[in-house]
Amino acid sequence: MRLYPYRGIRVTVMGLGLFGGGAGAARYFAERGAQVTVTDKRTEQVLQSSIEALNDLPVRFVLGRHDEADFISADIVVVNPGVPDESPYVKRAREAGVRIEREMNLLFKLTPNNPKLGITGSNGKSTTTALLGEMLRLSDPRTLVGGNLGRSLLCDTAHLEPGAPLVLELSSFMLEGMRELQESPHIAVVTNLSPNHLDRHGTLENYYNAKKAILEYQGPDDVAVLNADDPEVSNWGAYTPGRVVWFSLKGEPEGDAAFVDGHQLVVRLGGQEEVVAVRDMLRLPGRHNTANALAAAAAALACGVQPWQVAEALATFGGLPHRLEMVARTARNVAFYNDSIATTPESVMCALDSFHGPITLIAGGSDKGTPFDALGEAVARKVRRLILLGVTAPRIEEAV
Ligand code: ADP
Repeated sequence: MRLYPYRGIRVTVMGLGLFGGGAGAARYFAERGAQVTVTDKRTEQVLQSSIEALNDLPVRFVLGRHDEADFISADIVVVNPGVPDESPYVKRAREAGVRIEREMNLLFKLTPNNPKLGITGSNGKSTTTALLGEMLRLSDPRTLVGGNLGRSLLCDTAHLEPGAPLVLELSSFMLEGMRELQESPHIAVVTNLSPNHLDRHGTLENYYNAKKAILEYQGPDDVAVLNADDPEVSNWGAYTPGRVVWFSLKGEPEGDAAFVDGHQLVVRLGGQEEVVAVRDMLRLPGRHNTANALAAAAAALACGVQPWQVAEALATFGGLPHRLEMVARTARNVAFYNDSIATTPESVMCALDSFHGPITLIAGGSDKGTPFDALGEAVARKVRRLILLGVTAPRIEEAV
């Protein structure tokens, strides 16, 4: 027998997006009997993959615009993390007494008995999430991995056993929305911080404040895995009432820590040290990925994963697509890498640092308000040919 608890309830999903959250929320409510409207200012063409993911369900689409009626006459409006709080449509819905919900908040409410591991940061979120997910999966095959990574876990809640861990990539927008919930993950990882999404958050302070929500509602038994090398995150130990495990590529932090000792990756918890890998064993290239590996290993061991399971995941995980992914090599030994997920100057600099030899860089794109000075220097030092595209092309050119 199927249950339709939302029969007759009108749900508007605002912002379908392409990361799975909007589609996951629409599916969750539609499968439970709600009358679902999905609305997005973007067009059908742009949103095609998300629309197709819903083609088995009776969902009504309002695309290329929003209609006020869909907001004020709904029972629930599910707001995409990318929609700013001051959106006039959300405001009108609120004034009309409509319940405002968010996909990630709903997931937390529906899974009170599942341990949550949350990962945020400006760079390395997805890689660290996927790697940590592999470690957890080896220890508990019921583990689910999702969030900003591109998969909504809402529909999985129907058959989720208590105790099954959830590994969640959390964007600053999701965390900002989670303040209403006043919950943080049991294990929180902050990979690093640099200016990002200033077009939406306005100031660096607002952006950091959004990110801090990953720590501020933790409990005394919770764990924060924080980057000791990052000038900002290294001050964040005080924001959690829980235990802090520092990770560092540069030194050996005191107390609970993950660090590099010679060629070995070491995690020390409660005075006990475990060597989880030697550097050459890591399949992921580059120093930045060693940092991601330390963070994931610390988080995994802190929630009871065995050291051999951590070691196995580090030796087998080859990375996610579009992240320094080699797509082809020509007969004359020119290698083509797709790093199209690198959407900050820092991540492009990391990519440049991972190669020796002459580089042709294709870069540019939309403007998120980040400074390009350091990238300009790195390009001038390492790149032989530069091809610039999009609205940021003149700014990058000037920096170079
Ligand atoms: P995010 O999910 O935060 O965007 P990803 O794991 O998808 O990060 O990695 C995107 C790109 O960012 C990678 O291709 C790499 O160039 C860079 N990157 C990954 N990890 C780090 C890190 N720890 N520090 C700096 N840059 C990183």
